[in-house]
Amino acid sequence: MTTHANPDALTNTWQDLPAAQQPEWPDAGALRDVVAELESYPPLVFAGECDQLRDRLAAVARGESFLLQGGDCAEAFDGVSADHIRNKLKTILQMSAVLTYAGSVPVVKVGRIAGQYSKPRSKPTETRDGVTLPVYRGDSVNGFDFTPESRMPDPERLKRMYHASAATLNLVRAFTTGGYADLRQVHAWNQDFVKSSPSGQRYEQLAREIDRAMNFMNACGVDPEEFKTVEFFSSHEGLILDYESALTRTDSRTGQLYDVSGHMIWIGERTRQLDHAHIEFASRISNPLGVKLGPTTTPEDALTLIDRLDPERIPGRLTFITRMGAGKVRDRLPTLIEKVTASGAQVAWICDPMHGNTFEAASGHKTRRFDDVLDEVKGFFEVHKQLGTHPGGIHVELTGDDVTECVGGGDEIFVDDLHQRYETACDPRLNRSQSLDLAFLVAEMYRD
Ligand code: PEP
Ligand code: MN
Repeated sequence: MTTHANPDALTNTWQDLPAAQQPEWPDAGALRDVVAELESYPPLVFAGECDQLRDRLAAVARGESFLLQGGDCAEAFDGVSADHIRNKLKTILQMSAVLTYAGSVPVVKVGRIAGQYSKPRSKPTETRDGVTLPVYRGDSVNGFDFTPESRMPDPERLKRMYHASAATLNLVRAFTTGGYADLRQVHAWNQDFVKSSPSGQRYEQLAREIDRAMNFMNACGVDPEEFKTVEFFSSHEGLILDYESALTRTDSRTGQLYDVSGHMIWIGERTRQLDHAHIEFASRISNPLGVKLGPTTTPEDALTLIDRLDPERIPGRLTFITRMGAGKVRDRLPTLIEKVTASGAQVAWICDPMHGNTFEAASGHKTRRFDDVLDEVKGFFEVHKQLGTHPGGIHVELTGDDVTECVGGGDEIFVDDLHQRYETACDPRLNRSQSLDLAFLVAEMYRD
């Protein structure tokens, strides 16, 4: 892996193309200086790890594993704390234990974490009480506070994004390999949670069964290494191309380019135009890629994306993350899957049941109904069952904290509760209890 400035013109081909959702940086010179500095930074992930994730995702595409991808809609710099990171990780580990044990399927774990700082927005500006300012585009670009100073894009934030990602990833690596993720901790992850919530109690029962199974194996003299550490990968939307391309390096083993800002990079619904910069950039890097597909996606779009991003049909290279909405998934998804399958391409199909189900509550909070989220996942499973294809996983916005952002769930949150702990900087996330509820329900769907 080279550590010197990116010398490879191949990553710059996107620069001649239109790029949606890029900030208007006020000072081109300042941006250039930041990019030069980012180019000198060490990689956050290794190319070999990206290849390993690609192999894991190939198993998802073949129907042998299930992808659990989750985390914040938008990470925030002030959320880089041990508590936040541990809680998020714990939630994902608990969901994964549920899916593995109750769904009897290996789970590939990928966080929306350590790089998810940039947001596409529906409008470039926001108006409040007659004052119009640039919209908040994520902590990598500008501040959340509604003041002219805070909303001014500042390229120095791209460096903070790198350091925040590095600190997060460092702790995630420590947690997942340093004993915390040991399956014998399956109870410990739940300790602060078990008494207060029905899903916590349900989980506790499952953890007892896992314990018994492990004790049985131990008694038989089996103590596999696989129980002691967890493979966990990072992912984020590759949105701000100046950042992503500054973090792209040539892998010295293979001569291939990798975006070393995260293991998996996805292209969002708003930036997947076939002849624009994001798809061009993504086509040049060798990381496993995701592309979000909304309800207006045509089969031709999907097939062209495959040709552009996976011309060599490398297993695990491409994951389609569908986000149709509960009302549309049964109608829109079948044709896409049919046409892609008929073309002979093998992609992993993942369901994002969040982004097609957002609405504004009367209180003004952006929210989602747990029942809609669940219904989209159900529709996704139904469609795959009918077609004989593999429902490869879920992509969810969640937090380990006890927030009140989505309505419903077993420990029900009502519309009137939303203001109590509404903490997201962007879209509403499932809290820990809702996330566990979802994992139990998905495990049942997977088994059936
Ligand atoms: C997101 O994942 O936060 C997002 C903006 O999704 P989409 O591109 O599907 O709208
Ligand atoms: Mn979101």
